[in-house]
Amino acid sequence: MKTVTSPAAMQQLSLKFREEAKTIALVPTMGCLHAGHLSLVHTARATADILVVSVFVNPMQFGPGEDLDAYPRDSDKDKQLCEDAGVDIFFFPSNDAMYPIGHSSFVEETVLSRELCGRLRPGHFRGVTTIVAKLLNIVLPHRAFFGQKDAQQALVVRKLVSDLSFPVEIVTCPTVRDTDGLALSSRNKYMSTEERNAALCVPGALEVAEQAIRSGTSDARMISSAMQEALKRTPGVKVDYVEVVDPSTLEPIVAISGPALVAVAVRIGRTRLIDNRLIGGPDVEPPTPWLPPSP
Ligand code: AMP
Repeated sequence: MKTVTSPAAMQQLSLKFREEAKTIALVPTMGCLHAGHLSLVHTARATADILVVSVFVNPMQFGPGEDLDAYPRDSDKDKQLCEDAGVDIFFFPSNDAMYPIGHSSFVEETVLSRELCGRLRPGHFRGVTTIVAKLLNIVLPHRAFFGQKDAQQALVVRKLVSDLSFPVEIVTCPTVRDTDGLALSSRNKYMSTEERNAALCVPGALEVAEQAIRSGTSDARMISSAMQEALKRTPGVKVDYVEVVDPSTLEPIVAISGPALVAVAVRIGRTRLIDNRLIGGPDVEPPTPWLPPSP
């Protein structure tokens, strides 16, 4: 595995690979890799000649007062995990390389980005779409892989690629969960044991929604209220939002008659957690999550 830190060198390599008719897959991450990231890597590995994993904690997608400085970083471990997973290029640029002094161009999706997390994190998706556009231009992948864990992000990226005609296929991969149902996230590291236990109310609330919908409840407000109740029963949990939305437009659903995306964001101590479940649509949750082989 080669580590590349310069965007220009990365782009030169990708141009060369393309000249040689090699296909390129990209898994963009902010590092501190876990089995969720590795499932994307594993899926991507099978689809291309060259697999690039990028690790870049993108300051532009963090708002003032958010956890940019505290965000967990462990590039040595990330490199080892990528090497073990058969990654070809570990793209690990610095802030200055990605945003040199004077950087003044941004990419913005203006509809889907305003819903759900966009309401509470103004500027977040502008940061995401800007960095994704840059990574696509630098790495020039044929396919790029995103997790359903961040369903809104995956949708916003699909829209970006479609609206701006990026020649890349976006692949969305299922959410990988711990055995007790908590979605894996680099931010889970922030939590104490008590907070980690409290966090189980999030998959619990999604289960409440799933059960209600499967047993015939179609009133989305009733479903959100039942979820809110379930979350509020856990001390120390602050609900940012609970929403039942159309999985393609993210607009709130009033009466459920087709696929619905149930999305939750909560804060537990200093940790913000998001999770979602697609109900009544194509099965995006794998029956058994892929986990890395034990050492
Ligand atoms: P992050 O490093 O948190 O920005 O995530 C990088 C990519 O990994 C994004 O496309 C995420 O949606 C995806 N991802 C993060 N956690 C999970 C998970 N538990 N299961 C599947 N994909 C995930």
